[in-house]
Amino acid sequence: MIQKNLNDIAKMVSGEVLLPDSQTILIKGVSIDSRTTKQGNLFIPIIRNDDGHKYALNAVDNGAVASLWQKNHPNPPLNIPLIIVEDTFVALQALAKAYRTELHAIIIGITGSNGKTTTKDMISSILSTTFKVHKTQGNLNGQYGLPITLLETNKDTEVVVLEMGISYLGEMERLASIAQPNVAVLTMIGESHISNFGLRENIAQAKLQITNGLPENSVIVINGDEELLEEGIKKLNLHESVKIIRFGLSNQNDYFTTSISALSDSTTFVLNGHSYSFPLIGAHNVNNALASIAVAEHLGVTKENITKGLKKLEITGMRMEKSKSKSGFIVINDAWNASPTSMKSAIETFQELSEYNQKIIVLGDMFELGENEILFHQEIGRLLDPRYVNYVFTVGKLAEYIALEAMGVFPQGHVIAFHQKEEIVKAVESIIQTNSVVLVKGSRGMKLEEVVEQLKEI
Ligand code: ATP
Ligand code: MG
Repeated sequence: MIQKNLNDIAKMVSGEVLLPDSQTILIKGVSIDSRTTKQGNLFIPIIRNDDGHKYALNAVDNGAVASLWQKNHPNPPLNIPLIIVEDTFVALQALAKAYRTELHAIIIGITGSNGKTTTKDMISSILSTTFKVHKTQGNLNGQYGLPITLLETNKDTEVVVLEMGISYLGEMERLASIAQPNVAVLTMIGESHISNFGLRENIAQAKLQITNGLPENSVIVINGDEELLEEGIKKLNLHESVKIIRFGLSNQNDYFTTSISALSDSTTFVLNGHSYSFPLIGAHNVNNALASIAVAEHLGVTKENITKGLKKLEITGMRMEKSKSKSGFIVINDAWNASPTSMKSAIETFQELSEYNQKIIVLGDMFELGENEILFHQEIGRLLDPRYVNYVFTVGKLAEYIALEAMGVFPQGHVIAFHQKEEIVKAVESIIQTNSVVLVKGSRGMKLEEVVEQLKEI
């Protein structure tokens, strides 16, 4: 993590130290949340829904040795060292940007509508066989999280693997200017946040801004099956030394697979005659693995280490995460988030599972889809096939459109739209058999992990 004295930090954020004799205080890391502040941290109060300045003293109780303070903000605590800045959010980003220039690590930036976290975990798992790696933790991938991830990086780190998530046009430009990646990965373009972006073209364009200011000899790893990325990349003003590597399921890509075989909890695929396995299900994850191998080979990781890294992959939770309930049925938790593309891939993967006697799908609303939100839900409803799924339970007003669409093709009583999550748990309990599997998926706001936890108790 960043380690500097207060005076140096003040320079990096163009701020002014309020207690003159405190300039040599050593700062070890930063925190924007007083509840998780650690000894030696600099507290950075952010004004968002709440005003972080209120918690500066709590942060000090938890070990903060100094705090930033937004100019003219009332009641600055005068008993702790403060750095006065124009804007604490801008200062956080400025600090991360300045610290990044001091790092010697290769920075890998990963963006895309789906698959960012999975690909980040895959790349980190592979590269950590060979390098000292630091990666984005949890969901620290945005305007606050990415700066924090960089500031947590130790100076001797060899590779930083950054997830870069955006919800609006313009945000990627900022993230890219802070992170200045040497390797940019674009997993795919879907419909996430389309209510903010308008068109898929705009989503592609926004994500491609990850390439803004790519240094010479850097690499872009893109999903070559996505036309919008191909078109978008042609319009970029890239330095001629920037290399483009394509991956995807079709064989015109640099990285593609000649065969995929899915087991109940792992996938094996062949690339250039070599067979790789990873402990996850779903063809979409083969794409994520291909992108990861492309990055690893670019950095010179051996095939043996790539194989090892993929095999030992540990994924951030709630991404097709399998567990067993008390009575022994399987729950697949994909409740981290949902967009039309991720729901489609989760359903396709689930429908292909053939070793279970009974299969139940629990789906919640997908948010932020704009004026076509009903259509998007209806489309999901049409993917559900009674040959491969026994029951479909939905919860939420939008997910009801999934149910309405599916009702036409399923036996009566096998598709039910619920209003409360508790009702779903009861319904599953009343029909569950031995050797059953339940998939749970919905947008973050639906918090369907609550259903998962209750199902596991059955
Ligand atoms: P978020 O925007 O919430 O951070 P993310 O881009 O990090 O999402 P992951 O968490 O890796 O995405 O994956 C979320 C879900 O998206 C997975 O559980 C899976 O259902 C789906 N998914 C993952 N990778 C892909 C892919 N390459 N193509 C389509 N869907 C995918
Ligand atoms: Mg993510």
